[in-house]
Amino acid sequence: MNEFAVIHTFFKYLTSAREDVVVSIGDDAAVLTPAFGNQLLVSTDTLVAEVHFLSAWDPYDIAYKAVIVNLSDMAAMGAQPCWLTLALTLPRCEESWLQRFAAGLHAALTPWDVTLVGGDTTRGPLSMTLTIMGQVPQGMAILRSGARPGDTIYVTGDLGAAACAIEYLTKPEGIAPQDRAILMEKLLHPKARLEIGLSLRNVASAAVDISDGLTADLAHICEASGVGALLNLAAIPVHPVVTKCQGAKALDLALGGGDDYELCFTIPSHRKASFLQQMHEQNHRCYDIGVIEQQVGLRLCDQTQSIIPLRPRGYTHFCCTK
Ligand code: ADP
Ligand code: MG
Repeated sequence: MNEFAVIHTFFKYLTSAREDVVVSIGDDAAVLTPAFGNQLLVSTDTLVAEVHFLSAWDPYDIAYKAVIVNLSDMAAMGAQPCWLTLALTLPRCEESWLQRFAAGLHAALTPWDVTLVGGDTTRGPLSMTLTIMGQVPQGMAILRSGARPGDTIYVTGDLGAAACAIEYLTKPEGIAPQDRAILMEKLLHPKARLEIGLSLRNVASAAVDISDGLTADLAHICEASGVGALLNLAAIPVHPVVTKCQGAKALDLALGGGDDYELCFTIPSHRKASFLQQMHEQNHRCYDIGVIEQQVGLRLCDQTQSIIPLRPRGYTHFCCTK
């Protein structure tokens, strides 16, 4: 099978019938029509074998996760995701692998009516770069820069499970199989919080998705907004299996472990009541974990009401040499 046959067999069918796609896979570029008055949002994520995933994983899971990682960026901006491109680098052409990979893409894209509109297929060490495009009505994107002192900080779900799953990848015997299965599910099949993201338009003052770790990603909001944050230790939603398996280390994983893809966002006090009402009506769970403060930096209020400075921690790829 050459690369054209691969594209035709495995990727072309992922193009769904969206009216705003004029030209999809098959030409030199896709032709897309954003809705009148909307702004286009574009975000790219690369996943590299043995860094972001293991090449031994089921290709379905690799593809599924790659899509969710991208959808999560749209959720954090309050955007409606629409179109995706996929630049895929493969060491070899294995039909059974591609079949599973395409099935994972399909499973992750279909619920959101997101369609694959192009890409590139090359030979080399396994990696993939996905570019997601979405839309918001003019001026409605939720930025990192809008948090203000007094805003309440929320997260959309339990934290630490994905990072904990990674800890057990190399020592699976260190954990009960049913606990490991729960953690692996969180690592491999995170949820894209798109519905909550859409509800946060005109409601949240700032938002970010937790890809690197809560403190690292919240620090991005704080830096962009010129503010600081006080987190309430007792309110951090540590995943129960992480607490069970890791004891005292669980909080560290919840604060600094990445790969959860929950949203972290801030709500001004005058919008808090209507926000909570809306979350309740839509059956969305959110955890109030702290407050934005004028004083820059991150701080943690512990059980004894002592305030401890927090160093933002999370995954980084590089420490550049001079
Ligand atoms: P070009 O030579 O112009 O770069 P390609 O031969 O790379 O074109 O790709 C042919 C068509 O197939 C293009 O429309 C491209 O967007 C699409 N395509 C290539 N690889 C992929 C992929 N992995 N997923 C989706 N579409 C792809
Ligand atoms: Mg090409």
